Amino acid sequence: MSRKKPRISFEYFPPKTEQGKDKLLNVTTPTLNELNPEFFSVTYGAGGSTRDTTLGVVSAIRETGIDVAPHLSFGGDDENTINALLETYRERGIKRLVALRGDMPSGMGTAMQMVYANELVAFVRERTGDHFNIEVAAYPEIHPEAESYDSDIRFLKGKFDAGANSAITQYFFNVEAYFYFLDQCAANGIDQPIYAGIMPIVNFDNLLRFSRNCGAEIPRWICQRMAVYAGDQDSMRKFGIEVVTQLCQTLLDSGAPGIHFYTMNQVEPTREICNNLNL
Ligand code: FAD
Repeated sequence: MSRKKPRISFEYFPPKTEQGKDKLLNVTTPTLNELNPEFFSVTYGAGGSTRDTTLGVVSAIRETGIDVAPHLSFGGDDENTINALLETYRERGIKRLVALRGDMPSGMGTAMQMVYANELVAFVRERTGDHFNIEVAAYPEIHPEAESYDSDIRFLKGKFDAGANSAITQYFFNVEAYFYFLDQCAANGIDQPIYAGIMPIVNFDNLLRFSRNCGAEIPRWICQRMAVYAGDQDSMRKFGIEVVTQLCQTLLDSGAPGIHFYTMNQVEPTREICNNLNL
C-alpha cells in the first residue's frame, strides 16, 4: 500500500527591508516552491505591528499563483479592523489562515487584552463561513503559560470545536513528545491532523535564546555537540542538517502527516533537508 505523500509547508516572517522583501519574493520563494509545498505562510507581528508588511508579502506571493496563508491574531485590534483584513485577504484569493492568540509585545505590560485563538477562530467562521481553511498552533511540549498539560490539550480541542481544520506545532526536537502528544489529543477526541513544525538550525545561539522563551527543549546531547563545534560554522551547519534530517525522517516513518518548516526566510538548510528526505 502506498503512503499518502506528506504535506510540506514553509513559514516566513515579513522582511524589514525592501531588499529583504525583494530577495524573499524573487529568489527564496521560487526556489523553495520547486519543492512543491502545499502553501507558504507569513507570520504576523503581535499587536498588528506587521499588519501591512504581512499583507504586502502575502499579496505578492499570491499574485504569482502560489498558495499562501497569513498568520493572524487580534492583538489590540478591534473587530472592524480584523474584519476588514479578512475581507482584503478574501478579495485577494487567500483561502487559508493561521489563527493565533499571539504574544504581548514587550513594553505593553497588561495594556492589551489578549484574545485567545479559539475566539479568533470562532470570529473568522462567523464572519466568513467556510471560506478559509484555518490552521491553529499546538504545543507538544506544552505552551509555556499553560496551567497544565491537560488544560492545554483541552484548549486545543476548543480551537477545533470553534472550526479550525488542522494544527501546526511549535518546533521541537523530541520525537517522543510529539507522538505522545498526538496520542493524548486522540484520547481527547481530536481527530484533525497535527502537522509537525520543524526548525532547521540556521543559527544555534539564536535558537537557544528563542527556545528559552517559547518553551521548546533543545536536548542536551545536541547542545553538547554544538559546543564542540563552536566557532566552526561549517561543522555546525552539517551537524544541524544531519540532526534535523534524522528528526524529520523518524517523524515521517512513524506516521506524521507532514512537516511545516520554519525557514527563517532562508532557502538553506530547508532545501537540503527536504532533498535528503526525497520530499
Ligand atoms: P492560544 O491557543 O490562545 O493559547 C494561549 C495560552 O492560553 C495557552 O497556555 C493555553 O493553554 C491558554 N488558553 C487557550 N485558550 C484559552 C481559553 N479559552 N481560556 C483560558 N486559557 C486559554 N506568534 C506571533 O506573534 N505571530 C505569529 O505569526 C506566530 N505564528 C505562530 C505559528 C505557529 C505554528 C506556532 C506554533 C506559534 C506561532 N506564534 C506566533 C506564537 C504564538 O502566538 C504564541 O505561542 C502565543 O503565546 C500563543 O498563541 P496560541 O494561538 O497558541 O494561543
